[in-house]
Amino acid sequence: MAHKRRRSAEEYERIKERFARERDLRLGYRPDGTAQFTSELTGALARYAQDPHARTPEPRAPLDDSVECLFIGGGFSALLTSARLRERGIESIRIVERGADVGGTWYWNRYPGVACDVVSYDYLPLLDEMGYVPKDHYAKGPEIYEHCRNIAKRYELYELAVFDTTVTSTVWDAADRMWHLETDRGDHMRARFVVCANGTLSKPKLPKIPGLDSFAGPSFHTSRWDYETTGEDLSKLSDEIVGIIGTGASAVQAIPKLGAAARELYVFQRTPSMVDVKNDWPTDPDWAAKLEPGWQAARRRRALEQEAGGPEAAGRRAAVSPEEKIRRQEQANIEYVMRIHQHIDDIVEDPETAEALKPWYMFMCKRPCFDNAYLPTYNRKNVHLVDTRGLGITEIRPEGPVFEGRTYPIDVLIMATGFEVQKTGIYNRIVGEDGLDLDDKYASGIRTTLGIHTHGFPNLFIMGGYQASFKFNLTDVLQTQGDHIARCIDHARRHRHQTMDTTPEAEEWWVQEVIENRGKTSRAADCTPGYYNFEGASQRRQDGNYNGSYRQYIEHVRSVGDRMDEYFLFRGPSDD
Ligand code: NDP
Repeated sequence: MAHKRRRSAEEYERIKERFARERDLRLGYRPDGTAQFTSELTGALARYAQDPHARTPEPRAPLDDSVECLFIGGGFSALLTSARLRERGIESIRIVERGADVGGTWYWNRYPGVACDVVSYDYLPLLDEMGYVPKDHYAKGPEIYEHCRNIAKRYELYELAVFDTTVTSTVWDAADRMWHLETDRGDHMRARFVVCANGTLSKPKLPKIPGLDSFAGPSFHTSRWDYETTGEDLSKLSDEIVGIIGTGASAVQAIPKLGAAARELYVFQRTPSMVDVKNDWPTDPDWAAKLEPGWQAARRRRALEQEAGGPEAAGRRAAVSPEEKIRRQEQANIEYVMRIHQHIDDIVEDPETAEALKPWYMFMCKRPCFDNAYLPTYNRKNVHLVDTRGLGITEIRPEGPVFEGRTYPIDVLIMATGFEVQKTGIYNRIVGEDGLDLDDKYASGIRTTLGIHTHGFPNLFIMGGYQASFKFNLTDVLQTQGDHIARCIDHARRHRHQTMDTTPEAEEWWVQEVIENRGKTSRAADCTPGYYNFEGASQRRQDGNYNGSYRQYIEHVRSVGDRMDEYFLFRGPSDD
């Protein structure tokens, strides 16, 4: 084993100074923070929002009816929670979905190379219930999409579902104690319970670059991949010059495929991603055959126990001062980043390109990536990295993107520029009791209980929103929330309550929990800008995720579920 060189304290400081310089450079370029992007994709930008999988929605008459539980969005949040509701005997469940099928992220994102780099046996939900074992250690997009469809079939969720439909308003009606929903298809639906299951990264965003709408050729966002232009196997690109703006997790997966298919590929980079090796392998059939029923649940339990560590680990942690803990974490983090730099040097042949691909920020400032084909793609003669060194593309002309006064003529332009983050009411205005608009309530700071309930919005549940725990494996969090929501709805029904609303006291308790657990370090402020830290903008301490451990979050969710009468105000026919 190679001897690991010890770095001096000065060396660590020098690296941290470089991180800070790179961050400051970027912050200087984008004082407008998240306002540098738009996700209002209308008018000339409408082509970036169009659903390429269902260009002409099926015609249907507007609906005017009532259901018991209605999900806004048909991705994993809705599927997981519906499964639990079905297990509790709830029949009237409707999914209203903007896409033409269930699947959410996995419906929309079908770009070449799409895959999930959370281990499939953990990421794909309901594997025990579905009796399914994923094909590989890391699942590819089409398999995950198919799994979503299979869940919807198995739990009979297609029966009442409506697709190609966007909920535009969700208004509480105190008279009949129901939510009234309007859609862009002229529907008027009523529901006793509503679950906002619209996902965390659903609405594509584009940088407000001058001339954005002027590009003359075909152009699309990664989440709206236009296979008519590229061909299913990308063969239509063999004579084309392709440009891609952005090098985040989507681009990292698409670029190797584009590099192999296009005549020329120009990659416009603003900040490099941190790309590590992906150890993937096909599922061993012998291992799969030996799995006992309930294996996924058991795996989750084991992971949680490991996260806690034993009393010995707790003792060791307690013996180290907080300053020393931070110092050790920082140094380990820097060592990881330096290993990534070495990996780039080992693979990328051109030294200038290798330098440009090196990330200069702490691990986890941006979403880490795992891909074995990404770095070697830059050794191809037809692939050109245009490193904009933090500035980004400054203009788009009909012929192509512009950087430092040079126009790069291209035939096809792909925007890999990400998504608007975690808003509860996307496309949708949510109005609770006494005409209170959720956006107005949140204007002075997000207020929820567990990130799931918000006072004044009875029978409304939020999934994947702020003030909930954040985990690299998002489906773990969604499952915890889904189980809790099903439990709440079941409780309300069994006790014949028509409404349940979290109390102001419960909400205040949770807001303080969120605030207390945030910002133990200056990490967010030290990080290079990105969607994890609102592009470097300062934010109210309550406007983010719950940063206690995931275990603690689960315990809080469980204890609220165990003592509902303390946290909710119930109203029903018997106690009017
Ligand atoms: P991201 O927000 O991660 O990336 C957007 C990219 O666009 C960044 O590289 C950004 O640069 C760049 N950009 C923005 N404006 C400009 C500009 N003016 N000029 C040049 N470049 C610009 O979006 P993604 O779609 O890649 O990923 C979103 C999330 O989806 C991921 O973080 C992850 O959570 C999830 N995902 C997970 C995958 C997986 O499991 N492997 C795969 C794909 C997505 P800068 O960094 O400087 O802001």
